[in-house]
Amino acid sequence: MTSRPRVVIVGAGFGGLNAAQALAKAPVQITVIDRKNFHTFQPLLYQVATAGLSPGEIAAPIRSILRSHKNVEVLMGEVTGFDLERRIVETPDAVVGYDYLIVAAGAGHSYFGHEDWEPFAPGLKTIEDALEIRRRVLLAFELAERQAATGERESPLNFVVVGGGPTGVELAGTLAEICRHALAHEFRSIDPARTHILLIEGGPRVLPTYAEDLSRSAEDQLRGLGVEVRTSTLVTQVEAGAVHLGDTRLPATVALWAAGVAASPLGKKLGTPVDRAGRVPVQADLSLPGRPEVFVIGDLAAAKDEQGALLPGVAPVAIQQGKFVGQLIGQEIERSSTHPTSTDFGARPTFRYWDKGSLATIGRAAAVAQFGTIHISGFVAWLSWLFVHILFLIGFRNRLLVFIQWAWSYVTYERGARLITGSTYLPGWTHSTPAQVTDEKPSTQEIHTPTPK
Ligand SMILES: Cc1cc2nc3c(=O)[nH]c(=O)nc-3n(C[C@H](O)[C@H](O)[C@H](O)COP(=O)(O)OP(=O)(O)OC[C@H]3O[C@@H](n4cnc5c(N)ncnc54)[C@H](O)[C@@H]3O)c2cc1C
Repeated sequence: MTSRPRVVIVGAGFGGLNAAQALAKAPVQITVIDRKNFHTFQPLLYQVATAGLSPGEIAAPIRSILRSHKNVEVLMGEVTGFDLERRIVETPDAVVGYDYLIVAAGAGHSYFGHEDWEPFAPGLKTIEDALEIRRRVLLAFELAERQAATGERESPLNFVVVGGGPTGVELAGTLAEICRHALAHEFRSIDPARTHILLIEGGPRVLPTYAEDLSRSAEDQLRGLGVEVRTSTLVTQVEAGAVHLGDTRLPATVALWAAGVAASPLGKKLGTPVDRAGRVPVQADLSLPGRPEVFVIGDLAAAKDEQGALLPGVAPVAIQQGKFVGQLIGQEIERSSTHPTSTDFGARPTFRYWDKGSLATIGRAAAVAQFGTIHISGFVAWLSWLFVHILFLIGFRNRLLVFIQWAWSYVTYERGARLITGSTYLPGWTHSTPAQVTDEKPSTQEIHTPTPK
């Protein structure tokens, strides 16, 4: 076993996992390295952020997903760099040698040079992000209820979502639904249904990668749910409790960032120039120029289709690229009994992406779907979205649990994962302060004065 060539895969997202699975029967030793011990099904993160699902229902331990593949070892660790000459992957406390390397480290948020906005408008990329968003959203209602119960004037609740791509649209739509339905009858001093939800998009339309008729339909469906949509509007500043649009300061009880994507900083460590979003340009076989033993796939890769257009950062691209690279390496190794050297590679196939269509959900029974020239909106699109997401979710247990949760929520409008955990600080909220040690006695507010005897 140990004399078999070693394939190191960095990242166990959609790309990395599919590469490992495609290689599982090949005569290779595989090491999968991820900073987390679990794989996250990112398309359902917004459901965790909006209390519809719990983290364990959209994630699965990497070790357990790959447990039946005896040639795969899983290491939890942060990859910090590469030595491509010595064929080594670097982590803070160890180095791992490879014959083939697949880098599938994905992407994170981009605040377009304004990283200081992040504490006031978190983005949605990880389970931790989703839990932070859930905390802020639910906390906002609790703080408002408490304030109103003290007899103070009710502060209007404003939720601002920046970015009208699929994530912004699904966040805004689902937040509207929670306010109007799930929370509607549970508070006594405030009316959650009066929460103002604003979706801001810099371009002329939401869902800009979809056909224009679907963008219009998505906007109509959002408005139907009570979301205010402002397009061609640029956010110029974000601060605690507010978002600025030029000279206008908009109060934002909760601001969420769904506007920009930046590839993993690991891309820059590969030594080749990256594009503006930090993606690594790859060749037709997804390898690095001049490094046939190194592949970059998924959101981190700047791969192009036959027309020269950049492939989108979506799960099917990462999945197909993972499978393609896994099969390519497997076949190459089977052809050669010795370890590969840079002269062994010969002519390689070209990666071709098969676009099976795009789906974006907006809320309950509201979605858009684009399958080539077929464009669908509303309930049927939503059913297709539901079916595809349950089908691709990893693990039978998760599929079953999510199906039951969704069926239950559909009938009752309930959202079962409404837990506020961690801090009770909401940036910008006057009576909520970051945890700090102080000798000062906090001022006491009176909630419901006792009835005089
Ligand atoms: C909120 C949201 C909603 C989305 N919705 C959809 C959708 O509806 N449909 C769709 O097709 N796509 C959707 N996407 C996009 C899709 O999830 C990505 O395109 C896909 O996850 C990319 O796969 P990947 O393997 O390149 O990276 P990822 O799935 O992001 O995986 C990267 C992995 O690398 C690991 N990693 C990163 N850096 C390091 C490091 N330094 N060391 C060790 N490990 C590291 C991470 O922990 C992670 O496990 C969505 C994305 C988000 C964030």
